[in-house]
Order: sequence, then C-alpha cells, then structure tokens
Amino acid sequence: MSDASFLFDRLCVIGIGLIGSSILRAARGYGLARTLVAADLSQKVIGRVEELGIADVATTDFGAAVTDADCVILCVPSGAFGVVTEIIAPHLKQGAIISDTGSVKGAVVAQMSPFLPVGVHFIPAHPVAGTEHSGPDAGFAELFENRWCIFTPAEGIDAEALARYRAFWERLGSRVECMTPEHHDLVLAVTSHVPHLIAYNIVGTADDLEAVTQSEVIKFSAGGFRDFTRIAASDPTMWRDVFLNNKKAVLEVLGRFSEDLAYLQRAIRWGEGDKLFDLFTRTRAVRRSIIDQGQETAAPDFGRPHGKQ
Ligand code: NAP
Repeated sequence: MSDASFLFDRLCVIGIGLIGSSILRAARGYGLARTLVAADLSQKVIGRVEELGIADVATTDFGAAVTDADCVILCVPSGAFGVVTEIIAPHLKQGAIISDTGSVKGAVVAQMSPFLPVGVHFIPAHPVAGTEHSGPDAGFAELFENRWCIFTPAEGIDAEALARYRAFWERLGSRVECMTPEHHDLVLAVTSHVPHLIAYNIVGTADDLEAVTQSEVIKFSAGGFRDFTRIAASDPTMWRDVFLNNKKAVLEVLGRFSEDLAYLQRAIRWGEGDKLFDLFTRTRAVRRSIIDQGQETAAPDFGRPHGKQ
C-alpha cells in the first residue's frame, strides 16, 4: 500500500459498535489510514477489538486516543455526543477533522459544537446504512457500500477538509449528499425514525394481544409481521436517543401519519375500497422505485444485501 493512498495518517474511531467497527474494518480493508485507533468506554469491548485485530491501537482513554489524530469519528448513541466531545476537545489536533455518525443531526450538532475548539473542522455526517445488530462483532466492511452518507456541515466549512472527508466516505463505498441538519432530521423522521416507531408499536401490540397466543404470532409471522420484528429488534439505547433527540420532526411526521391512518380507518369502516386500492397502488410504485435505485433488492425472504441484515 503506498502512503499516497492513505487519506489520514491517524484515524480515531470512538464507540466501537456496529457502525464504529464497520468503519474500522472498511478503513483497514481499503487502506484509508496509516494508523487506526479504536476507543471505547468498555474494557471488554477494547479486549474484543484487540482479538478481532480491527485497529492498531485500542484504548479506553479517549484523550490519548484522539491525540495527534487527523480525523476523529464519534460513533456513540445520540445522547452521548456532548459528553464525549467535552472529554476529547482539549486533546484535538489543530486542523483535525471531527465527525460523527449520529442518526439525528440537529441535536447532535447542538451537543458537540459548544465544546469544539477553533481550528478543527467539524463535519457532521450520517451514514444511512445499518442493521438491527450492535457491538463490535456486528460490523462488516461492506456495510456502507452503495449507501448514502449525509453530511450537514455549517456554511463556510473548509473546502479542503470537506473534500477529504467526502473522499473518505466515497472510498468506503458511499455516495455523499450535503443538506442542513434540520432538513436531514425531517427526511429521516419519514424514512427511518417513524417507521421504526411503527415497528416497535405493532410488535408491542401483538405481544399484548390476549386472544392471539405468542406462539401463533411467531408461527404465522411470514404474513408481514416478520419484517416488522427485524426493525423492532434494533438497539433500545440508540433508538430511545433518536426519538428523544429528534422530537420535533418525529412528532410532526407522526401527526401526518395519524391523520392518514384515520382516513384509512374510515375507508375500511365505510367499505370505500377504491380509496384503499388507490393508496396501495401508489405505495407499490414507491417500493418499485426504491428497488430501481438500488437501495433494496426484489429478492424474497427480506432480500437484505450482505446476508447480515
Ligand atoms: P452500537 O453498536 O450500540 O454501539 C454504540 C457504541 O457507543 C458502543 O461502543 C458503546 O460502548 C458506546 N457508548 C454507549 N453509550 C456511551 C456513552 N454514554 N459514552 C460513550 N460511549 C458510549 O451502536 P451503533 O449502531 O454502532 O450506532 C452508533 C451511532 O451511529 C449512533 O449514534 C447511531 O444513531 C448511529 N447510526 C446507527 C445506525 C444503525 O443502523 N445501527 C445507522 C446509522 C447511524 P459500550 O458498548 O462500551 O457501551
């Protein structure tokens, strides 16, 4: 590997779960940094990182981890970005890129910004890629391939730093798009956060039903329920933090969702089949365009790529 192909001399990832360990694996696989540093609160996770050999340095000392790093990526739950930034801020190198992978952008930017020293380049980012699994063993290098990574940098961000970080995500296999944190949070409320809430809710409802036994729910789950259970198995800490930190956009989308649900309820009550048919025809077209744009396969049995989701 020639030195010229390294984008960073020292890349530090903090929070070695699904996303952090996937970044490390991909950065190593594609030769994106000379030295990979992994930091996590838990000594057990650090031990596992060493066993997996996915970083050159692994430590629970966040200050030491970021020292001399020219890129630092925080991969912790949405509620923990402020506290971690406060710890690392005095140790950040001048000119370093600092980023995150938070699923919520407005609240995470607000948590991190007050602690960041002048002279570092803050590029908030959200890889729109994931699975319902957590922890360092869940990660895999191909997670970001053919997925979008959304950047929400402030106006006036250093162009060279932005180009370098964009190149990093492109070499991880992603396509990059920039938008404001507010717009990101609204888009993701529709495409990810509210769908997760619906999945958590329907799985909870089925679990609470007294007239249908749990074994029947499991036995006949292929009727649609199974797809919801995959989403509803997502990490409770991460998703609690997503809803608490994207309150405004989630409540706005939920309001619209409830109105539309009431419309369907009424159509069923009054036997208005044309209304149901029209909506189901429109939604089928949405599914087809997602497949056409390569964001899903038409394969049966979940059709998840990588065989891991
Ligand atoms: P994960 O597998 O659960 O890993 C989370 C990591 O954060 C763990 O290493 C955990 O350390 C650490 N952590 C937890 N609480 C912390 C705290 N208070 N202070 C410092 N570190 C803490 O989660 P993930 O799926 O990788 O998600 C990481 C971030 O990426 C989240 O912000 C999430 O919203 C975002 N994201 C997730 C997905 C997805 O589908 N999963 C997709 C895109 C973005 P311990 O294990 O030691 O507790």
